[in-house]
Amino acid sequence: MNPKELVCREFVELVSDYLEDALSPADKARFEKHLRECDGCERYLDQMRITIESVGSLSVEKMQPETMDEFLHAFRDWHSES
Ligand SMILES: [Zn+2]
Repeated sequence: MNPKELVCREFVELVSDYLEDALSPADKARFEKHLRECDGCERYLDQMRITIESVGSLSVEKMQPETMDEFLHAFRDWHSES
């Protein structure tokens, strides 16, 4: 498995905790480091923020499987272009 993709998967798993400010300082630092290095995940986080604002609550976990799937597809496409 591509290690970069593994990290992105982890990022996706941590997004809801990050938005709830529930990450440990160490995880938060890793999360934000990845965020700076990965355009795909930065865009994903923006999308999650917008979604949460429009829904008005943190129902991230319910919508996550589909969104995550779309994201990972988008990420693979984005990668194969570069
Ligand atoms: Zn990423």
